Amino acid sequence: MPTEHIKVDALVVGGGIAGMQTALDLGDQGYQVALVERQSSIGGKMIDLSKVFPTLDCCSCITTPKMSATAHHDNINLLTYSEIESINRNGNGFTVQVTKKPRYVREDDCTGCRSCELVCPLEVSEDEHEFGRTSHRIVYVPFSTAVPQKAVVDIDNCIFCGKCIQACPSDAIDFTQQPEPVEIETRSIVLATGFETTPIDAKKEYGAGKLRNVISGMMMERLLAPTGPYGRVLRPSDGKMPASIAYVQCAGSRDQTLGVTYCSRVCCMYAIKQAMLLSGALPLAEITIYYMDIRTFGKGYEQFYQNAKAMGVEFLKGKVARITEDADQNPIVRVELIDEFGKTRVTERQHDLVVLSVGLLPGGNPQAKFGVPVGEDGFIQVPDYNVFPAVTSQPGIFVTGTALGPMDIVDSIMMAGAAASATASYLESSNGSGKEAQSQPERSVEYA
Ligand SMILES: Cc1cc2nc3c(=O)[nH]c(=O)nc-3n(C[C@H](O)[C@H](O)[C@H](O)COP(=O)(O)OP(=O)(O)OC[C@H]3O[C@@H](n4cnc5c(N)ncnc54)[C@H](O)[C@@H]3O)c2cc1C
Ligand code: SF4
Ligand code: SF4
Repeated sequence: MPTEHIKVDALVVGGGIAGMQTALDLGDQGYQVALVERQSSIGGKMIDLSKVFPTLDCCSCITTPKMSATAHHDNINLLTYSEIESINRNGNGFTVQVTKKPRYVREDDCTGCRSCELVCPLEVSEDEHEFGRTSHRIVYVPFSTAVPQKAVVDIDNCIFCGKCIQACPSDAIDFTQQPEPVEIETRSIVLATGFETTPIDAKKEYGAGKLRNVISGMMMERLLAPTGPYGRVLRPSDGKMPASIAYVQCAGSRDQTLGVTYCSRVCCMYAIKQAMLLSGALPLAEITIYYMDIRTFGKGYEQFYQNAKAMGVEFLKGKVARITEDADQNPIVRVELIDEFGKTRVTERQHDLVVLSVGLLPGGNPQAKFGVPVGEDGFIQVPDYNVFPAVTSQPGIFVTGTALGPMDIVDSIMMAGAAASATASYLESSNGSGKEAQSQPERSVEYA
């Protein structure tokens, strides 16, 4: 298969909010950008969230226009469902080998009409976004606001019955598709590879992922989202509307036993946000947040916390030692409560549903592929964080968003601006070679 060649000023790796915003900022300044995303749609974790703190704006309403603007920008070449294979330094820039994974659907022909989905006879569990609570057909458009709005075939489970081929009005299904090599020549790289959440089964004291009514913060996001699996908050074991919901803070962060010693920064705020949303969705439910410290550091965040208290959310200071369940699968929380005078008391409380406020881990190890050092926490390390937070130790390679460390959406967007600005300034002043340019550098506009 012939290799497609793309020549750009900047390659952005990762199409979450940080990567999209960096690509948009650079594209708006006239730079040619390639954005490589390994998933079949851009959007990152943000597309799975319900509403955002502290404004409680609909997350989809903020993310979808950014996804669309990224995909339709004249200066952004979007490659989804694509993996970076290797990066080699080459004179003033980098040569990057990318593999476009086969969708078994021709992107140029697919209109996203979903006729194929309707006739496909098989379905499999939807694990990527819905934690197995719903299913999707073998050929499917990943979600209703996916960008690009193109189908993809789960080839491992396909029985090749051919029904989708017959149903597709655009003749887009193509089972002969192979992985396509793409070579990107770029003068700079921005890493926006994001985060993963700490695993729900990491702590055996909290049930090791086996208690059905102990879920993660991300699972609760999906239950609260208008696009979620049930359209309402139901507990997993029996579909009952929970009357008592508890949050366990720092369930994956600030924990030596898990090797995650840092604060994940967003968990206090997302737990408070979810508690407020639950107060609206289930007005009679009692909501308790067990915490070690509440960290509401951002603009308007402390007021958000005070509002949650005023709405009746119960905040109890204490460390949860253990979660078990009774015969009806109601979680029992054993906690050492600390009163305002520092006196401790161990107690057990039963709830209908417990949410673990899981923390943030780096989205993979960027050291091997991108040659950038990582800190003890596994996130990308920059030599001068206070002065140049987006500049890595590798000339021409920049970092943005949660690839750098835990941060919320506001900070990810601000970091995107910082990364775009550092990249632009590098491209203008050094011509990508690390040396002062004698004259204004030319911008690459051609696609070979
Ligand atoms: C439960 C929960 C609730 C939250 N609620 C809020 C909230 O209400 N308000 C708020 O401000 N913040 C909230 N956050 C934090 C918010 O999700 C993050 O700040 C934001 O999503 C970070 O965006 P990002 O682009 O850095 O990373 P991501 O969203 O993780 O995007 C990274 C992208 O890079 C891709 N990628 C990774 N590696 C590669 C690679 N090698 N090649 C190609 N692509 C790659 C990934 O597939 C992904 O699409 C919440 C977090 C959680 C866990
Ligand atoms: S060929 Fe595969 S994807 Fe197409 S309808 Fe049959 S099972 Fe579904
Ligand atoms: S593959 Fe064909 S039937 Fe399926 S969404 Fe695309 S255009 Fe529609």
